[in-house]
This record gives sequence, structure tokens and C-alpha cells, in this order.
Amino acid sequence: MSDTVVGRFAPTPSGRMHAGNVFAALMAWLGVRSAGGRMVLRIEDLDPRGNRPDAAKLLLDDLRWLGLDWDEGPYYQSERGEIYVEALRQLDENGLTYPCFCTRAELHAASAPHASDGTFVYAGTCRGLSSEQIAAKSQVRPPATRLRVPDANDGTGTIEFRDLVYGPQREVLARDCGDFLVRRSDGVVAYQLAVVVDDALMGVNQVVRGHDLLGSSARQIYLQRLLGYPQPTYAHVPLLVAADGRRLSKRDRDLDLGEIRAHEESPRHLLGLLAAAVGLAEYGEELNASNLVERFSWNRVAAHAQEVCLFVLDEYRKG
Ligand code: GLU
Repeated sequence: MSDTVVGRFAPTPSGRMHAGNVFAALMAWLGVRSAGGRMVLRIEDLDPRGNRPDAAKLLLDDLRWLGLDWDEGPYYQSERGEIYVEALRQLDENGLTYPCFCTRAELHAASAPHASDGTFVYAGTCRGLSSEQIAAKSQVRPPATRLRVPDANDGTGTIEFRDLVYGPQREVLARDCGDFLVRRSDGVVAYQLAVVVDDALMGVNQVVRGHDLLGSSARQIYLQRLLGYPQPTYAHVPLLVAADGRRLSKRDRDLDLGEIRAHEESPRHLLGLLAAAVGLAEYGEELNASNLVERFSWNRVAAHAQEVCLFVLDEYRKG
């Protein structure tokens, strides 16, 4: 087996990248380039409702402007539907899935909130439906598909892994998320499944992304085990927040590259600040992404993970 690091950019084209997206992309790129690895670009345009026209084109252009290059792709998830359906079929055939007819309102009423990230633990409402019940409910609305997770006392549903930034992680699937969606009721394959299939088929062995997806990793590792895929290394990076403590969002166009590029000829100021936030540069230093390759290490990122955030943005506005 080759030990080349293979990483990826996996942006969703729901809007322009903001400084937090740039930070995650920079870390992913440095993780690959500092190891002499290979970078894959995959546009996660699976959800037709979430895509904004031109956003994918702008993403590519913004990555180039930032000096964050890739070796393979872009792949578009919207063109890979059959590959995901095949994985879904494999899960179905092994009796691991079931149709779920719960509406959003029913889910909220019946589910226990998850303590750490506010997502809901599925109560298992549709887990034991008879074939007659399934046939009757199918007349009313098309079902989504859920993956059955092992009972809490079955060790195969306890997922442990070590994040390169946030250290040891442990999740008991039955307790922390419950049976989870692998296909939505409108037929769109769920993010969890698509990302696992794509990472495996594209040979990705280092997944770098925002801290908001840390809680998805256990589900993804579980899917990798069911589908016989190798487990990548994970590095989740801190999220940047706005001055009022809110997470930066594409929807709110918080410090996005449209705004930044209207005022700056080069990315050097922004990259310098993002690098300084994890101890890879002095504050005030301006530099290109390539200047950071030699300085980068996951240990440095991990050591600074708690301090990143507000400071970067306040400094950006002052600069
Ligand atoms: N497409 C996701 C996003 O833009 C990232 C998925 C991932 O890195 O696994 O937030």
C-alpha cells in the first residue's frame, strides 16, 4: 500500500467561500503539500436545492487566487448518482436499512436532543414497521432510508478514533445519533454516504474539514466498516466566528472572498492572519500559501486550536 497522503477540498457550492472556509482549505492543502501528497477537488453539489448558480465556478477561481492548487478533479457529486445508489444497494441487501416515513415535525417531537451539537437522536419510530405498514405508509408519502445502528451495548456501534487536532474521540452511535439517514425522501443520497463513498473511491486518506463536522466522523467510520473501505485520518479545524460570537456563514456573506477580493489584490494579508492564528506566522506577516509548507505541522495547529477565531477577523478588519 502506498503511504502517499491524499487529501481533498470538498466544498458545497452554496455561496462564496468565507474566511473560515479559506482557513479549512488552507489547512487541508498544507496537510497534503507538507507531506508531498496529492490533492483532490470535489464539488459537493448533491443537493440541487442548496446549489447557487456560478458558485462552483467562483470556488475554483477563489482557490486559484488563494494559491491552493489541486492535482485531480474537479469531480462533481451531481454526476455520480449511480455510484452512490450502488453503495445504497449494498447496504439494503445486507438488511442494514429501512424506510422511514417520519416528517420533520414528527422527528422533532419524538427525538431526544443530542447534548453536544444540538442534532437529534432518532427515536427509532420506523425501525420495526411491518411490510403491511410500509405498504400503507408508502401510499401517503415516499420514505427516506435510514441505516440501522447497533444497540448501545453492542461494541460494534462504539466508534473511537484520534483526530489530529482535537485528539481522542469516542461515540456510541445508538446513544449519540441513532439510526441515521442515508437517503432523503426526495431520493437525494445523504451527505454521510456520498462523502464516504467518494473519499474511498478517490483514495482520500486524510480528511481535513471544519469542527462542525467532527460529529459526523463516527457515522462515516461506521459506514466505511460496513462497506469495506479503509479509514482515513481525520483533522478537524476550528471554526472562525464573527465579532458577535456567531459562526461565519456563507448565507450571511460574512467576510467572504467576494468582499475580500474587492479590496485586496493578493491573498497575502488574509493568509498571513489565518496562518498566525495557528502559530505558523507572526501577526502582521503577509505571505503566500507556499511560504507555509515548510512551517506546517499538525502539532502546531493542535496547540493553537483553542485560540483561533475572533482575533483573526478583528485583525482583518483593522488591517
Ligand atoms: N461539503 C462540506 C462543506 O462544504 C464538507 C464535507 C466534508 O469535508 O466532509 O461543508
